[in-house]
Amino acid sequence: MISIAIDGPAGAGKSSIARAAAERLNYIYVDTGALYRTIGLAAARSNTNIQNEAEVEKLLKSLDINIVFFNGEQHVLLGDEDVSEKIRTEQASMMASKVSAIPAVRAYLLDTQRDFAKTDNVLMDGRDIGTVVLPNASVKIFLTASPEIRAKRRVKQLEEKGIKCDYDEVLKDIITRDYNDSHREIAPLKPAENAIILDTSDMTLEESIDALVKLVEERV
Ligand code: C5P
Repeated sequence: MISIAIDGPAGAGKSSIARAAAERLNYIYVDTGALYRTIGLAAARSNTNIQNEAEVEKLLKSLDINIVFFNGEQHVLLGDEDVSEKIRTEQASMMASKVSAIPAVRAYLLDTQRDFAKTDNVLMDGRDIGTVVLPNASVKIFLTASPEIRAKRRVKQLEEKGIKCDYDEVLKDIITRDYNDSHREIAPLKPAENAIILDTSDMTLEESIDALVKLVEERV
């Protein structure tokens, strides 16, 4: 099986770029952030004190999270509920960033993520795919862009979905999440040793997709 690891900070356009590239390459696209977001949502809904290990363990035991694909599109199910849209709010992003620093949460999701790569050619995006989840990935790409460009893209993306937001708030959230993601003790966000850095600050979406597809095609 061929696996492509795409890592990078929040709002680098990873999901749009990776999804489109996967379609062109005919690989399954797995958005692992959605799994952390779903745990964040579940923690918020159940008022779990995420500082308390026992409460987190209890929450994780109670969860039934599944990824399904409808017409090639990834959906996340929490029990019977399709939470794919509900996990996209800024609040869910922050909760995801917080729960993702908890070792038990990362351990809980490790096998789920690895299982995808056992049965299919995958293009998987996250923060630690090249470093932890798929250390033997065929190609590892670290996709990034400046915080300001990422904030602008996020605002546009949220506005297109009818979600109101403020640029300064979004930029602040991105900087906070970058800091949290790259300074946590476990699986911090950083390029894998053999990752190729792809900076999309000056690229359009189409150019970024072309660049990613080209990098993969040259290597597999
Ligand atoms: O990619 P996305 O922005 O949806 O991820 C939400 C949050 O989940 C990130 O800020 C990060 O804290 C966490 N995450 C992670 N490891 C991954 C994917 C996401 O820690 N593989």
